[in-house]
Amino acid sequence: MKECLFCKIAGKQIPAKIVYEDERVVAFRDINPKAPVHILIIPRKHIETVMDVKSGDRELMGDLFIAARKIAEKEGVGESGFRLIQNCKADAGQEVFHIHFHLLAGRKLSWPHG
Ligand code: 5GP
Ligand code: ZN
Repeated sequence: MKECLFCKIAGKQIPAKIVYEDERVVAFRDINPKAPVHILIIPRKHIETVMDVKSGDRELMGDLFIAARKIAEKEGVGESGFRLIQNCKADAGQEVFHIHFHLLAGRKLSWPHG
């Protein structure tokens, strides 16, 4: 997807503070952090929303969780805890249409969110 911001970040055409990458997953710091640790975890594959996830993406979806766990360990928040958020479409306020988890940590997070 030529015009997708997150595809461009994954392809290093647009700079970002990348904290993790492997063959299928990339993670980088959010440009407008909502917590001391705010990292976006994306698949390299362009998938617009959770509503576009197919059965064939099963393993890739697992890869995102494995990456989240590795990043939490690296950031030192695996014990204190963190939140993984996935916004889907308008009511959730999705702004970038390339699926991503927000990993938020480093402070006490209120619940329920929003
Ligand atoms: P959404 O609302 O789609 O779930 O979240 C999009 C997130 O992407 C927002 O938290 C926003 O701050 C972040 N973001 C938007 N543009 C950029 C950018 O160019 N670089 C980085 N690192 N994050 C971005
Ligand atoms: Zn994309």
